[in-house]
Amino acid sequence: MEKNKKLKSWGEMIKFNHRAFQIFYKRYPQMVLSRFISVIWTSLTPYAGIYLSALVIEELAGSRNIERLRFLVLLTLCAAALIAFCSAFLNKWKATQNAGLLFKVEHIFSEKLLDMDYVNLDETETAELLSTIRQNQNGGGWGLYRVIENYEDLCSSVLTLLGGFFLTVSLFTSRVPESAGAYTVINNPLFVILVIIIMFLITYIAPALSNKAGSYWALNADSHNLGNRLFSFFGWLGYHKDIATDVRMYRQDKMCERHNRDKEDTFGSNGMFAHLSLGPIGYYSAASSAVSVIFTGVAYTFVCLKAWAGAFGLGAVTQYIASITKVSGGASSLISTLGDMRNNASFIAQVFEFLDIPNNMYQGSLTVEKRRDRKYEVEFRNVSFKYPGSDTYALHNVNMKFEIGKRLAVVGRNGSGKTTFIKLLCRLYDPTEGEILLNGIDIRKYNYAEYMMIFSVVFQDFKLFALKLGENVAAKVDFDSDLVVDALRKAGFAEKLSAMQSGIETYLYKDYDKEGVNISGGEAQKIAIARALYKDAPFMILDEPTAALDPVAEAEIYSKFNDIVGDRTAIYISHRLSSCKFCDEIAVFHEGEVIQQGTHASLVADESGEYYELWHAQAQYYTE
Ligand code: ADP
Repeated sequence: MEKNKKLKSWGEMIKFNHRAFQIFYKRYPQMVLSRFISVIWTSLTPYAGIYLSALVIEELAGSRNIERLRFLVLLTLCAAALIAFCSAFLNKWKATQNAGLLFKVEHIFSEKLLDMDYVNLDETETAELLSTIRQNQNGGGWGLYRVIENYEDLCSSVLTLLGGFFLTVSLFTSRVPESAGAYTVINNPLFVILVIIIMFLITYIAPALSNKAGSYWALNADSHNLGNRLFSFFGWLGYHKDIATDVRMYRQDKMCERHNRDKEDTFGSNGMFAHLSLGPIGYYSAASSAVSVIFTGVAYTFVCLKAWAGAFGLGAVTQYIASITKVSGGASSLISTLGDMRNNASFIAQVFEFLDIPNNMYQGSLTVEKRRDRKYEVEFRNVSFKYPGSDTYALHNVNMKFEIGKRLAVVGRNGSGKTTFIKLLCRLYDPTEGEILLNGIDIRKYNYAEYMMIFSVVFQDFKLFALKLGENVAAKVDFDSDLVVDALRKAGFAEKLSAMQSGIETYLYKDYDKEGVNISGGEAQKIAIARALYKDAPFMILDEPTAALDPVAEAEIYSKFNDIVGDRTAIYISHRLSSCKFCDEIAVFHEGEVIQQGTHASLVADESGEYYELWHAQAQYYTE
């Protein structure tokens, strides 16, 4: 993972910001347009006020023609009213288009996560990178979110600068009359150039100092990430409903207080950022503010000197003071925005590091033949697998062929490789060595979505959504009610379903509907089985499918297992060997290898085998 050790170059700054801007513009053009039109409007319209009020003052201080004065005042008022009206309208438009900007940014990450190879999703590096990006975003506002604001500021400062510049040109070109005596020195081009240089230097120095202060945050981003990570968990301990019981039982809140304090060590009054704020960040910020004030002093002195010497009238003084302040403000803002964009480039680089994680796995294009007879033959051929970053084989030289329409049980101790075997079959990972074949062709060559259509899996750690029961079973918003009810009935959920007032329209849990129904672990498992049945795939994989069921429900599922599975090929992982007896074949895994394979009767007869040992270890609970 890339660390924010040094600032990006100006070239990289342009490249990263431009790419980030394109992302927003392609997805949300209206949002970007609303921002730009609003900023153009708010940057340029103040000059109308400045110009018109200067005319009014000029008239008051000069010829005092009542007709012209009335006209100018009326014009100023009308212009102000029209500007206010349009500004309010634009603000509304912008607010509507920009609602949920943070959500829009999150959506970009979420889409990438959903699209990513599972193997990358599962990697610690990916989780850390995403966590860093989010910490930077939530802690200092750095990253994608800031890009759109920076572009807006860039546009605003350039326009302010240009508008002010046009109204200021005559300040430098107007001449003091010869009658002003010694003051005519102001007309000397060298004097004018000197003033411009001083103003330019001050305009440059103030934001440069402020950017320097900001760069300490960018350069030390890694350090405050840990504090932020601690904060985002321990600071919100009470909000985590899933740990509420354990926290109460073991008073873990006391244990967590320590880590909460660690967070304060980062951000508290003795932390690094407090020291930086009292040290260089503070000095640079203070110096920046002080230098800005000097600019105002120089501008006032120059304008007043010229007016005093008779170069222009009172009305022009207000115009020049206002417009030169705008020029300076615009230039300052331009420099500080460019500096901010450069500081932010390191953070955007991390966002792209994440968004550019390549999708290598799911590139296959072969279509999977649709067969009514469900004759899909899958074979593991010399398959070995190591998890990314691990030196040991989780699976080693596995050879297995699934007999079409047969029931295969996969048994073995914890950590023997059973779940890994299923994950490879479902292409969540690809084998490190060897290959898995579907009808004789390496599964990597198939289109992934089509390949997945042949499997229904109930994983051990399956999850249901707080949505309608029917949507959970069908994994679709538009579901076939009869098929949903049938699947639930087959999975043993009929009784509970009949007690639900809204039937399959009932919401699970109460997150989105207070009439929602909380379900037990066993009921959830039945719904997960129903979901696998609804998909109606040729392969049915059940990973510990009855672990959360009570003995009665478990017995009920087993007795109906043949009905449930029908003519599908079934793969069944279980710790409870008694529940595997009815399978046509049993494969015994041990330390990543298939060490025995056969029927229950043949395996239990081999007294020297692992199966015999496992069977007898459990026999006291599940006697024949
Ligand atoms: P089982 O399902 O038989 O309990 P698993 O297939 O889950 O076993 O695990 C097989 C081996 O792979 C174990 O040693 C386990 O620690 C390791 N393992 C499982 N998941 C991962 C992972 N995501 N990263 C690294 N090692 C893993």
